[in-house]
Amino acid sequence: MDNMEKIINEGKQYVMNTYGRLPLSIVRGKGSRLWDANGREYLDFVGGLAVTSMGHCHPKVTEAIAEQANTLVHCSNLYWIEPQVKLAKLLVENSCMDKVFFANSGAEANEGAIKLARKFGKGKYEIITMTKSFHGRTLATLTATAQDKFHQGFSPLPQGFKYSPFNDLAALKQSISDNTCAIMLEPIQGEGGVNVAEAEFLKGVKEICDQQGILLIFDEVQVGIGRTGTMFAYEQYGVEPDIMTIAKALGGGVPIGALLAKEEVANAFQPGDHASTFGGNPLVCSAGLAMINAIIEEKALENATKIGELALNLLAEMKAKYKVIKEVRGKGLIIGIELTKPGQEIVQKCQEDGLLVNCAAGYVIRLLPPLNVSQAELEQALYIVEQAISEMEEQV
Ligand code: PLP
Repeated sequence: MDNMEKIINEGKQYVMNTYGRLPLSIVRGKGSRLWDANGREYLDFVGGLAVTSMGHCHPKVTEAIAEQANTLVHCSNLYWIEPQVKLAKLLVENSCMDKVFFANSGAEANEGAIKLARKFGKGKYEIITMTKSFHGRTLATLTATAQDKFHQGFSPLPQGFKYSPFNDLAALKQSISDNTCAIMLEPIQGEGGVNVAEAEFLKGVKEICDQQGILLIFDEVQVGIGRTGTMFAYEQYGVEPDIMTIAKALGGGVPIGALLAKEEVANAFQPGDHASTFGGNPLVCSAGLAMINAIIEEKALENATKIGELALNLLAEMKAKYKVIKEVRGKGLIIGIELTKPGQEIVQKCQEDGLLVNCAAGYVIRLLPPLNVSQAELEQALYIVEQAISEMEEQV
């Protein structure tokens, strides 16, 4: 039995069976590359699902983690934590927000957003979310996730959530009631299949929110921190939310999430209203500081925009050649290739050829390369994707 088989077999024995895992164990990473337990190299266009956005083991992030681990790993939020304060300042200075609360994951950041919206709502409690959304796996965020398949087996679900079709302003207007305190959406739905919000839709949502005193919450857990080519996806639309959640790429791989809000909204939280033992601890915040500084200093946003445009152009050419490609969409370096057939076959074929990609919503090959990916790496990845797609095409 080789090392990989051993890891997989013991995993099946000792780890809860909650993930549909591939028979692959990754043990090392550097930049855009990963190595499995048998030493095989892969080009990584999954990035831990939009987490390792400056590549694996970016030297600045690794150094910051090592240095902080030697200084102070954890400290309670009973005290002021310098790296937390610095990271909050950096996030505020680079966004339209005024205050930050730190959590440990995307779901937790969204739980915080839901609580904050209700506290601010002073009795108004209803939150409207979009079909095909994904907001997390805690009971409240699971309920906010407007996809029935995630709800099965977990009733009774928390009350106060309503669903409305994505990109449909007329339907949204119909859903609003006197109890609505917030509208919560992803500017680009990642898990739902890389569904991009239309500019007119987001502008319309913002207008409704302003007119009716409803909060606008953007879940930027997947697209925040540079994924779309701007630090936050809302910048692509010129629409400022009242509350925004981020996580994934914020710590470059360490577990961190954050809830950001405009001053007036943030003030609804008072001491005792919300807390997290690990939230914003020195270790994760040092990683977050290094990550954001690296993105800015190394002009990764500009690179993501440039390589993202190139990728969309090359994929448009590919779409013209293969009937099996239904649509190509995305912004910056979150790109979806929607197929007319289930995409798992492509994921497997790419893996065999040394490229890791993932499939969202059954039919959409999702590409999430690091923001600092090179043109050569993109071209190599798309070459492998095209081989897999041409094989699928032959079977049509
Ligand atoms: N929100 C969005 C938009 C996500 O894509 C995800 C995870 O994929 C989450 C929330 C949940 O984040 P986490 O898995 O860190 O709890």
